[in-house]
Amino acid sequence: SAVVDVPKYKMLDGREMPAIGLGTYLGFDKGGAVTSKDKQLRNVVTEAIDVGYRHFDTAAIYNTESEVGEAIRMKIEEGVIKREDVFLTTKLWNTHHKREEVIIAMKETLNKTGLDYVDLFLMHWPIGVNADYTHSDTDFMETWHAMEDMVKLGFTKSIGLSNFNKMQIQRVLNEGTIKPVALQIEVHPQIIQEELIAFAKAEGIVVMGYSPFGSLVMRFGMEFPGPKMDDPVLTSLAQKYGKTPAQIVLRWLVDRNVVPIPKTVNPKRLRENINIFDFKLEEDEIEKINQFDSNTRYTLPSFWQTHPYYPFEQIPNPIPDPFRS
Ligand code: NDP
Repeated sequence: SAVVDVPKYKMLDGREMPAIGLGTYLGFDKGGAVTSKDKQLRNVVTEAIDVGYRHFDTAAIYNTESEVGEAIRMKIEEGVIKREDVFLTTKLWNTHHKREEVIIAMKETLNKTGLDYVDLFLMHWPIGVNADYTHSDTDFMETWHAMEDMVKLGFTKSIGLSNFNKMQIQRVLNEGTIKPVALQIEVHPQIIQEELIAFAKAEGIVVMGYSPFGSLVMRFGMEFPGPKMDDPVLTSLAQKYGKTPAQIVLRWLVDRNVVPIPKTVNPKRLRENINIFDFKLEEDEIEKINQFDSNTRYTLPSFWQTHPYYPFEQIPNPIPDPFRS
């Protein structure tokens, strides 16, 4: 099958981000700390490179940095790609928000990937915690300034934010030296993020959408309310364009200038998910999918909701902190 040629977005710092990335968080059922068996993820990533993926999304907390890095290094050694052809996004975990900890985390990440630099280093959350997961009041601006140093040291080409709300992003824009080039947030038909996407766009920040399939797929081994693969709105669009409902939803993100980062470890779905750059939804079709919005988050760490920098709305019954068992 043909290699898909993926378009790119120009970022504020002049660098370019491929318009789709492969998600590599494998930990849903296991609560976070999971590595793949028998180099499964490494093999998925090498295959992804063969079919045209040039952007990979990982994080220190996913435990997948080493296999993603190994796959990239293998493909460079094979001569299939050069380092500058791939875009690697990773994230700083909440336990390393203090100025002196950021460089330690960054070096650990580079060690795991076996690469000299990453392309994009995101602050995973505005929330800092201590090693024992008690709340730390470390100001995320301290963290941001330390991340700026990582650019100056050449450890990452670009820096950005994840799970920040509008006010928090505004503060980084006001007080930072380097502007965040990217914002990674939850985006799918049930949380369309109209306001935050418009805000980011006005500031020139590229938005990456995580959990792009929303309710279409099982999460935590469960079905959730919301549109499924057999939803009539999605199946009729799928029919019209000769695509699958999954591809329609990914294209909906692309048509809103959001970089989807779908996760799959399945070779067939790897191809399916990237094969979305040969058609385009009409304005009213985008609007139809927007109607599924119910402001539903699957990533809602309500156990942090008493933290001063918690980015989301509080809920009445927060869940127990899984990091503090
Ligand atoms: P996704 O919306 O990517 O859904 C993943 C699920 O969908 C998997 O079960 C996968 O199974 C299945 N799937 C993939 N493609 C298809 C398809 N074409 N048809 C049917 N099923 C499909 O959810 P995630 O929550 O994993 O989000 C994606 C990525 O976003 C993560 O891997 C991570 O990199 C990032 N993320 C970032 C967060 C943050 O805080 N910044 C939070 C959450 C996620 P299978 O593998 O078997 O195909």
